[in-house]
Amino acid sequence: MTQLESKVAIITGASSGIGRATAKIFCQEGAKIIVGARREKELHALVSEINEAGGEAVALAGDVTKESYNKALVDLAIASFGKLDIAFNNAGTLGKGGITELSIEDWQATIETNLSSAFLAAKYQIPAMLKQGGSIIFTSSFVGHSVGIPGMAAYSASKAGQIGLMKSLASEYGPQGIRVNAILPGATQTPMAEEFGTDPSVIEFVSNMHALKRQAEPEEIARSVVYLASDASSFTTGTAMLVDGGVSVCKT
Ligand code: NAD
Repeated sequence: MTQLESKVAIITGASSGIGRATAKIFCQEGAKIIVGARREKELHALVSEINEAGGEAVALAGDVTKESYNKALVDLAIASFGKLDIAFNNAGTLGKGGITELSIEDWQATIETNLSSAFLAAKYQIPAMLKQGGSIIFTSSFVGHSVGIPGMAAYSASKAGQIGLMKSLASEYGPQGIRVNAILPGATQTPMAEEFGTDPSVIEFVSNMHALKRQAEPEEIARSVVYLASDASSFTTGTAMLVDGGVSVCKT
């Protein structure tokens, strides 16, 4: 039996990187999924790939900072598959760096994409899960939690904020069978990591920060998301789960 048999899931940030890899693995594990992100073409390519491989996926493009989009994703899950069991709230941005030169608008843009979107997602996902329980997972980061990195103030604050939100929701909705966790990937080879830098010296520096002396493949993060989404983690809630190749403990 597959790990997510007959489960219905929403995955945001599914047009590339960690979200895309997770969407494919969720379907291989038997889930029916709604995939969201801004880029419609990439989402439809993913849906075709999944459906051709025998999976079931539906796409809805939109912006996770918009309340109406968060509601629409949940409505689509109910309309398409009759329920919602799992939500992987993964869409995110690096945003602009710095602090003294950072405008309030740029600060707010990062907070809205990474943190306010998490609130809006949960606001509509929780009512849909109250009847049968469920698993909500936010993609946070080691950055802002176990490691401070210069020039990443807004990103760090947004990702640390997600962990506070997650803990509160886990406490509040545990009695109703809704588990809420965050996954904290180490540096992972995605378009976002490329934004951080493509120069070989930058890649080497970032890789060497990790105990494993390399960056993750998106699929390595996705497999941990499957764990948090599935009944294998049935007693796990309120956890900030590092999947970080040891970047949090490595000092060499
Ligand atoms: P990515 O750039 O490949 O994916 C980001 C996804 O989020 C894309 O699908 C993008 O379209 C979507 N997105 C961004 N803003 C959006 C918006 N306003 N509305 C809808 N969709 C939006 O990068 P990734 O590395 O796969 O990032 C996924 C998550 O992992 C992010 O939350 C990121 O902060 C987190 N993360 C990444 C790393 C890393 O090293 N790559 C490390 C730790 C955490």
